[in-house]
Amino acid sequence: MIIVMLGAPGAGKGTQAAAISEKYGLPHISTGDIFRSNIKNGTELGKKAKSYMDQGKLVPDELTVQLLLDRVAKEDCKEGYILDGFPRTIPQAEVLTQALAKDGQKVDFALNVDVPDENIVRRMSGRRSCPKCGASYHIEFIPPKKEGICDVCGTALIQREDDKPETVKNRLSVYHEQTQPLIAYYEKAGVLHTVDGTKDKDDVFADIASILG
Ligand code: AMP
Repeated sequence: MIIVMLGAPGAGKGTQAAAISEKYGLPHISTGDIFRSNIKNGTELGKKAKSYMDQGKLVPDELTVQLLLDRVAKEDCKEGYILDGFPRTIPQAEVLTQALAKDGQKVDFALNVDVPDENIVRRMSGRRSCPKCGASYHIEFIPPKKEGICDVCGTALIQREDDKPETVKNRLSVYHEQTQPLIAYYEKAGVLHTVDGTKDKDDVFADIASILG
């Protein structure tokens, strides 16, 4: 079972992908996470990707596509996988379709987590995280007990560079221009399912689970 998560940045794709991964035992592959771990480890790829990510731009295909194809060729992907953050453009989707077709495979489900832009801006610009232990918060929805301080380890919370308001705006316009056309692409392929991402995360997951069966 090959699943592609679609939706704007901050729509909750990652949260849902993690829940699907747990229920169905499929690996959750997030290109954003792969880039972030490369940044953390100071790799060449991380250095190159960071400048694009900090501006809310897409990392170029030459750094992204092969990375993804290598990842899905691994043993743990034999029974399927969930892609979160890839494809992000029509050319990336075409590369994926062609690579899968070589092995007689295809994307089985494209799950579009639909959330209006206004909600996205509110969700993303309120996100805070702990630079030490990684715990995440939201100033409005999941506030820490003491403002600006991590409940778990007492460290001062930070805002991810790409969650800053200017970058959020860029990420949304990149989404509308380059990623949203994938909805029509997968609809044409007959595998698109849209869920209402404004619902509570457990309700969104229940909708997804009934689609996946
Ligand atoms: P995400 O965690 O999926 O929101 O990704 C964070 C950032 O990583 C994006 O804003 C892009 O800069 C970069 N990124 C992640 N996936 C891709 C992709 N498939 N193509 C290009 N850039 C990507």
